[in-house]
Amino acid sequence: MAGANSLYARDASAIAGLQKLRFFPLALESGAGAYVVDDEGRRLLDLSAAWGAASLGYGHPAIVEAVCHAVSAPAGASILSATHRGAVELAEAILVTLPELPDHCVWFGHSGSDANETAFRAIAAATGRRRVIAFRGAYHGGTAGSMAISGHAVQSHAARAEGLTLISYPNPYHGEDGEAVLAGLAQQFETTLPPQEVGALFIEPIQSDGGFIVPPPGFLKRLVEMCRAHGILIVSDEVKVGLARTGLMHCFRHEGFTPDFVCLGKGLGGGMAISALVGPRAIMNHATAFAMQTLHGNPVSVAAATAVLKTIEDEKLAGNASTVGRFLLDGLTALKSRHRMVGDVRGRGLAIGIELLTEDPAGRRAAKTVFRAWELGLVLYYVGINSNVLELTPPLILTEAQASDAIAILDRAIADVEQGLVSDDAIRDFAGW
Ligand code: PMP
Repeated sequence: MAGANSLYARDASAIAGLQKLRFFPLALESGAGAYVVDDEGRRLLDLSAAWGAASLGYGHPAIVEAVCHAVSAPAGASILSATHRGAVELAEAILVTLPELPDHCVWFGHSGSDANETAFRAIAAATGRRRVIAFRGAYHGGTAGSMAISGHAVQSHAARAEGLTLISYPNPYHGEDGEAVLAGLAQQFETTLPPQEVGALFIEPIQSDGGFIVPPPGFLKRLVEMCRAHGILIVSDEVKVGLARTGLMHCFRHEGFTPDFVCLGKGLGGGMAISALVGPRAIMNHATAFAMQTLHGNPVSVAAATAVLKTIEDEKLAGNASTVGRFLLDGLTALKSRHRMVGDVRGRGLAIGIELLTEDPAGRRAAKTVFRAWELGLVLYYVGINSNVLELTPPLILTEAQASDAIAILDRAIADVEQGLVSDDAIRDFAGW
């Protein structure tokens, strides 16, 4: 870091702040497996995996081979006006993972944002039902259309959809079981929110950016049943927690409901830009030339995603996420008894959140903890509308030995923050969110 001519300093003048969400001055040269390497040659264990995008870690041979092959003789550059084998086969492979959705097809995008936006627009256009329900704290993307159906505090500047109703995501750690949310929505259906005008309910089966909240048992199932009774379509936004991360291929399966739409992104491309929306044909074929960008379905991103799905199967990564995730969760849970600022440790598989107590809001404990962890060789970030939940979404290839190292570093980082060893000055330049 440091130095007026350092990579990080050059970034400050050459790259726009608009797309920065920085927690410490991390400047990377390369990556390998679960590690990233900074511009001074320091190797850091990456427990974020670039917010879950690097699902297979960095430089996985399956992705390297698939991408090199695809880029050397690409079958065009788009699926808008010509199809290609890779795209058709990837769509078929995604559908195979969702046998509970037999009359569905796939739309390809670049990011979770455009996939959620497309779901929102297509449902409204095809059903004529323009209202939508989502959760307070939800982050469904950073485009105008996906922000319109989100409820995250970082987007307080954004225009929300005219027909948007936000409901609360119950946090069991705060004693919320979801009964009040269900009763409140039932009352709204009878009064101010005509359910026959609602097209969709957008769900994150773990609310990630809003605070890494695992919903109370049975809550989402009952909410889905309540909405279904009025013909409201259910969208499961699995962009962060889908594709084996939680120990199951799709996270909604933990909750006992079947959605109408599944939104995939981040880890689908293993670091390449690709997303997928799976939805019922009747809506997905409602119109043509309706939701498209030139490079959608390009053969290189498609090849990476196909390699990711195959590797998840070949290397049994759902099982690994489950086993190593349990090890990590147990180790982190043990930190609760040693550190008064650790409130709750929760998650499924390799999707874990650590809620820090916020009785000292000015202290920015989460910001200090991730900063100290970075100094000690560990990359992770924090989320939450109160900026107080550490988020762990490591590569699915994480080993128990690496999980042990991560626990040890976090133990020390938290202790150091508790002892006041990280100053306000150290994190002054890192607004986070
Ligand atoms: N949905 C969820 C649940 C997410 O966590 C995110 C990103 N944090 C998105 C959608 C948007 O994905 P992207 O930034 O890749 O467009």
